[in-house]
Amino acid sequence: MNYEELLEKAYSELPDVVKEHHRFEKPEIYSIIQGKATVVQNLGEVSKAINRDPDMLAKFLLKEFGTSGTHDGQHLVMKGQFRKEQIQERFEAFLNEYVLCGECGRPDTKIAREGRVSFLKCEACGARQPLGVLKTTPKREENKNPEVGDEITIEITRTGKKGDGMARMGGYIVFVSGAKIGQKVKARITGVQGSTLFASVIEVLN
Ligand SMILES: [Zn+2]
Repeated sequence: MNYEELLEKAYSELPDVVKEHHRFEKPEIYSIIQGKATVVQNLGEVSKAINRDPDMLAKFLLKEFGTSGTHDGQHLVMKGQFRKEQIQERFEAFLNEYVLCGECGRPDTKIAREGRVSFLKCEACGARQPLGVLKTTPKREENKNPEVGDEITIEITRTGKKGDGMARMGGYIVFVSGAKIGQKVKARITGVQGSTLFASVIEVLN
């Protein structure tokens, strides 16, 4: 084997990772406090690194800090004193919402519009997600606390001292007036006291 063949062999045996993988490094915000204002010194550079319009990032930061300011495409001057770490944190929120793909985590995305809805389109994996909706939707129904008026379906497992039916539901103890042990009932909540619920039977199901 001659030298060139050796070289070629060595190169072909390099793992792909070394040849072309370059990890996305989150750009770092540089800022200083000047009197009663804060200057982000590299708005232009970080915007370029994430392929977004500096105006979009500037507006996002101003809104997040609830302040006003101006920018010239490179520097952003914000009214008020903000620490570099605070700005970096909000900048990373911007990355998560408007830049990084929710599926593959790559930054190779574009913002596309369809009618009135904006999407984040990933050029690396093809994923498409509505902007500002996907990552911030709270799962409310699942963690909802029981309230007076709610309908519940439970099985009565015990009898209380006053003859009410008793049951457990999640972290709650439910007293159901008019229900008997062994019954499966649909009931309406009539009172909430800490982790104790009071309910009355609507319908016996068994
Ligand atoms: Zn992707």
